[in-house]
Amino acid sequence: MAPQREWFEKDYYRILGVSDTATVKEIKSAYRKLSRQYHPDTNKGDANAEERFKEISAAYDVIGDEARRKEYDEVRRLGPMAGGMGGPGGGGFRFENISDLGDVLGGFFNRARRGAGGAAGSARGRGPHRGQDLEAELHLDFEDAIRGITTTLQLASEAVCSTCHGSGARPGTTPHQCPQCEGRGVLDDNQGFFSFSTPCPACGGRGYTIDDPCPTCAGTGVEHRPREVKVRIPAGVEDGQRIRLRGRGGPGRNGGPPGDLYVTCWVSPHALFGRRGRDITLAVPVTFPELTLGGTIKVPTLDGPSVTLRVPEGTRSGRTFRVKGRGVSTKKATGDLLVTVELAVPQKLSAAERKAVEALAAASNGQSPRAYLGV
Ligand SMILES: [Zn+2]
Ligand SMILES: [Zn+2]
Repeated sequence: MAPQREWFEKDYYRILGVSDTATVKEIKSAYRKLSRQYHPDTNKGDANAEERFKEISAAYDVIGDEARRKEYDEVRRLGPMAGGMGGPGGGGFRFENISDLGDVLGGFFNRARRGAGGAAGSARGRGPHRGQDLEAELHLDFEDAIRGITTTLQLASEAVCSTCHGSGARPGTTPHQCPQCEGRGVLDDNQGFFSFSTPCPACGGRGYTIDDPCPTCAGTGVEHRPREVKVRIPAGVEDGQRIRLRGRGGPGRNGGPPGDLYVTCWVSPHALFGRRGRDITLAVPVTFPELTLGGTIKVPTLDGPSVTLRVPEGTRSGRTFRVKGRGVSTKKATGDLLVTVELAVPQKLSAAERKAVEALAAASNGQSPRAYLGV
């Protein structure tokens, strides 16, 4: 996505309710909270919530992506003139048509735009019409996110009404040509020099009127039908990632292509392992003798046999070892397993242990690791 003109007009940080210095984590968690609150599934028929959800998603698409966020910050820092729209020093940023983003996100919200004159006409026109884009959420186990998974999503999508086949008229009746616009769907409004076309108020831009609306769709010609979609989530998705499944959205009409399906993935944490991009992280407790004298420790991996790690003599607590190729395998590359050794301080000592630790303290008397502090 190249910089959009919209970037000047929208404060994506404000939309997500975070500061412009917010961390990736803060942005993600704000998006998670807001997208739940305004998700169309939980706000059926609420046009304001839909608009808000659309705004939130658009904001997260930009500032939820590190590279895009950098561009966005830069564009906003430089201000609208940086675009060099025909002026000297042009060629800074290239603007794509604002409607691109609207097209990406708009399909799902056709309902909100219906009745907006031309949109209503084209949405039900005779020509090929691209299917709607759909939004879905998916909760994944840590392991499933790493390996990828084929699963079934339940979606409610718009479909041509099965009762009236899209005409909007009760079966057995027929729509009539609108007398006011004579089927054109628009009225010409001459204002001196200019002539404007406005959607016909009598038929809402459709060009026909329905005397007896279809009982299933209340005359809209469209109904919402639950739909099961089998999706393949690629290996390596991260918590909060929004992935686009091309062509898995709503079906196209009149031979048009299907829309896309956007799936926001929420990945639950693992009891032992963590994730850092393609690398898997693991903290392993080790004893003082193991760090001081060195030794070998056995370390589990997420899938596959455990590995043996050699801890060299004099290893400091908090050091991270890299086990090559035992991370997340995606199409592009395979990550590593990052093992961090952490000194486990015993909370209870046997009499013999206490004696030994005291002996160690006595033996190293006078050698303080804090000597360099000079106090
Ligand atoms: Zn119908
Ligand atoms: Zn009309």
